[in-house]
Amino acid sequence: MKRMKTIAFILGTRPEIIKLAPVILELRKYNKDYNVIICNTEQQKELSNQTLSYFGLNADYNLDCMRENQSLSSVQARILTSLDKVYCENNIDATIVQGDTMTVLCGALTSFYHKIPVFHVEAGLRSYDIYEPFPEEVMRQMTSRVADLHFAPTVVNKDALLKEGISKDKIHVVGNTVIDALTCLSDDVIEESRKFYVQNNINIDDKLVLITAHRRENHGERIDRIISAIEYLAEKYQDHSFVIPVHPNPNVHDKIHTRLGKFLNIHLLKPLEYPNLVYLMKNAKLILTDSGGIQEEAPTFACPTLVMRYETERKEGVEAGVSMLVGADYKKIIHESENILSSNKEQTRLKAQNPYGDGKSSERIERIIREYFNKKVY
Ligand code: UDP
Repeated sequence: MKRMKTIAFILGTRPEIIKLAPVILELRKYNKDYNVIICNTEQQKELSNQTLSYFGLNADYNLDCMRENQSLSSVQARILTSLDKVYCENNIDATIVQGDTMTVLCGALTSFYHKIPVFHVEAGLRSYDIYEPFPEEVMRQMTSRVADLHFAPTVVNKDALLKEGISKDKIHVVGNTVIDALTCLSDDVIEESRKFYVQNNINIDDKLVLITAHRRENHGERIDRIISAIEYLAEKYQDHSFVIPVHPNPNVHDKIHTRLGKFLNIHLLKPLEYPNLVYLMKNAKLILTDSGGIQEEAPTFACPTLVMRYETERKEGVEAGVSMLVGADYKKIIHESENILSSNKEQTRLKAQNPYGDGKSSERIERIIREYFNKKVY
């Protein structure tokens, strides 16, 4: 490249960090070509900082943008205002955002207002229902309107972008960087995770069920139904351990603790450090989740996944038969879980390959960014 490029990574939640860390580490290999700025909106303050540290990364900016009981508009206003200062203080050549959060939309908009190109990692996922996931579906769609490079994980995502009129030269199918992150874990780190479960008296064997639920659209009555289904399963399968890393959002945290705390075979944990979560996915017989990232990661470990959502922007997994949508439907969650829990773990392992990636996405992204700058005339 003709001169070093300053690249701003705008991130703020755990999944954004897990999925951008491999890209940051890849760009930092070429420290004569890229000056990387990490800007953390702290949309999830504790989770984001904990996850950055696991990858050995530190934010250059911590924006502390969240307040209690804030509206979406007020947090958006605060993130935009804080980011604007960062863009005024630095000579940024490009912005990288990932996914579909408020942070992504604000990063993309601020960059656009400064006429700085936006590169969108994990572009083109669509449910086409603006309220599922809310508000993320729209944030991802709006980010596509201003992005100059769209890194689509799969061909399905690319086709969605093409249908929306985005030029094919700007779309690159690269796989999902979440799979790259999985391969960042060393044997030593995995061993530490094994010890974590021994210390916490949690038996990791062939009868392990991992459950996560946190999405906004599952708050209210839906989380009540999900909890009822978990109560039923924990009673029926007393020889199985149900491990739930509980999201700190009070809408789910309080109900889960009140209703599930009394079960001996349910382990309610704080949000897990990423390697400890990966250790559970690696060992689980079944995963029940509403998480996007976990839907993508689980097939790498051949673990069947029931997705507690009515829509998913990750249909490739459903099509490949590695995950199934069960909504927040009491009967469906129970029925499909029983199909798996009543069999041996070996019999229910997935045969299909992970449709979301091969662990080389970050290398592809770096090469495309390099070409992008090499082609640009200044
Ligand atoms: N994750 C984690 N600890 C947990 C739960 C999830 O490290 O206790 C990881 C998970 O492996 C995945 C990402 O966080 O990579 C998913 O984040 P989350 O479920 O919060 O959000 P989503 O993917 O739905 O946007």
